[in-house]
Amino acid sequence: MKKYLEGLPKKIRELVYLAKDLAAYRRMPAYLVGGFVRDLILGVRNFDLDIVVVGDGIKFAEYFARALKAKLIRHKRFGTATVVLKPGLKIDIATARSEIYPLPAHLPVVKPGSLEDDLFRRDFTINAMAISLAENDFGRLIDCYGGVGDLKNKTIRVLHALSFIDDPTRIIRAIRFEQRFGFKLDAGTLKLLKEAVRAKMLKIVEPQRLRDDLILVLKEAEPIKEIMRFKELTGFSFIDKHLVAGAKTIGLLRCADKEIKWFIRTHPRRRALDSWLIYFIALTDNLKSPAIKPLVQRFALKRGEEIRILSYKSAQLKIAPALKKKDINPSELFSCLEPLSYEVIILLKAKFGGACLRNNIDKFFLNLNGARISISGDDLRRLGLEPGPHYQKIFKSILNAKLDGKLRTRQDELRLVKNIIRRP
Ligand code: ATP
Repeated sequence: MKKYLEGLPKKIRELVYLAKDLAAYRRMPAYLVGGFVRDLILGVRNFDLDIVVVGDGIKFAEYFARALKAKLIRHKRFGTATVVLKPGLKIDIATARSEIYPLPAHLPVVKPGSLEDDLFRRDFTINAMAISLAENDFGRLIDCYGGVGDLKNKTIRVLHALSFIDDPTRIIRAIRFEQRFGFKLDAGTLKLLKEAVRAKMLKIVEPQRLRDDLILVLKEAEPIKEIMRFKELTGFSFIDKHLVAGAKTIGLLRCADKEIKWFIRTHPRRRALDSWLIYFIALTDNLKSPAIKPLVQRFALKRGEEIRILSYKSAQLKIAPALKKKDINPSELFSCLEPLSYEVIILLKAKFGGACLRNNIDKFFLNLNGARISISGDDLRRLGLEPGPHYQKIFKSILNAKLDGKLRTRQDELRLVKNIIRRP
């Protein structure tokens, strides 16, 4: 694998060589593992280095972080640590371990182990390969479970028959990787997966672990393809008993997908969308409002995510009817949409596809979003107006007049303020 490692971008290659030098100097057997090795063989860009150390992984991580003057996050309970270099570039370092699952779907009992133990505890053969970082056999591929063969045959295969029972989140991971790479589940693995689904194993996973794996699914390049495969293999009752992705939901997902792409293409300078959240809200569209809140709580979604999910529900009733009007004023359009997040607006556009609503939303993004007035509180004070809640009212009137094209310059705004003040 030396040739593959030589072909890495310079920054990543230097990190690999630093790990090799540290492993030699500290006499600690260290290996590249997991998705990094898989993607290296596939020729897919992946800058998340994943290293396993037979011995004390956290100690190795400390040496690593010190050499790079980088931040280190330790997870002592798991014998792992993350060296954070900059956003998007991190190195996970772990102590090689074996795992025993005393109860299905519960966290395993972990103890230090050999490299083979560590590879055996992994989800699929394609993720269970290692590359040696030792001086004397640097670059040697260790493939105890047939990962290379499965990569060649485009196959997702678990390492043992209890894999999905021990950790049912692997059901989600299996489908995610299958769809991402365009692979197939090996026949035995598919049978085990179906058995685990039939035994309702996903229902006993801790909801927050489910959430994390689902978010990863929705962050994949083609989430709808993934969702269709979930529909076929698992259904969605493990998310909520009333959740069925029927034809309407799938239609909404497809429209949302188009709108997301449109937004990214036409508004490249705006903040990055949380696309996964748009897919999540679309997927749960058939759930009634009273079912959404418990789901949000069970998944412990962040406050900002909860607000967007709930505001989509209420906007359908309160905002959508106004958006369907052809003659809506720019100021009215602004007060409807400015308080909403991009994610919610895009979903409204996807859900209510009428021409007026679509035009109004396009107009908002093009001309109105982020509009500001030029005058400030200082100007009002200079005009002798005592500060108070009426300031906001004045600002609103100025902004509305500006949005409706009645004011062009700062002087126009000041003139209108004076008129407002003079009014009895
Ligand atoms: P991605 O390309 O999506 O980041 P990855 O394979 O790097 O995929 P991670 O979630 O970063 O995935 O996990 C790193 C490695 O840890 C995996 O390649 C796999 O070997 C192992 N792993 C992760 N989750 C599990 C799991 N639930 N069960 C067993 N092994 C796992």
